Amino acid sequence: MSAWRGGKASKPVRYWPVPAIPHRLPNDGEPGSFREDRGDRRHCGVDLHAPPGSIVVAVEGGTVVRIGIATSPDKVTYWNLTRSVAIESEAGRIWRYGELAAILVCEGDRVAGGQMIGTVGQVLDCGKVDAGSPPYIRDLCTRGAASMLHLELADRLPADGGDYLGGNWFGKEDRTFPFRDPGAFLKDSR
Ligand SMILES: [Zn+2]
Repeated sequence: MSAWRGGKASKPVRYWPVPAIPHRLPNDGEPGSFREDRGDRRHCGVDLHAPPGSIVVAVEGGTVVRIGIATSPDKVTYWNLTRSVAIESEAGRIWRYGELAAILVCEGDRVAGGQMIGTVGQVLDCGKVDAGSPPYIRDLCTRGAASMLHLELADRLPADGGDYLGGNWFGKEDRTFPFRDPGAFLKDSR
């Protein structure tokens, strides 16, 4: 008999992006879940809560196609300055890692799955959150959950601004919402 080469060996390997925290995604409709309805906006990705400075690794390999600003106090007063890294996989999927503090890669770099690309940032400045802030923002500060990886999966990279701001989509979705649920891709991640 020849060596067995089926199934598992050919399955693409994906990496859980924040190795320090358990493999768990928010359930549908929960705070931080994909497409969560936030009243005036929809959440574009999933939030993985972790302490500031936690290591973030690439879910799969690819090329760094954009480094940008994820949140800024110039846009919303209770946001801290955090950054994002977008990596395009061989298959053309765009993974965007948002609300980061440090970024350890440059645009144009090739990265391997599991490679360290940055660290989790502190997205909310809870001292500036008040009674007029959205309820889900106040809740995050009350729960001490103001640092996280905001992870998006998309068919194409939306322009910052316009309908897209800080990981949320403000426009009518129709066919313009370019994001996908990353859940299936992360299900069997290492
Ligand atoms: Zn988010």
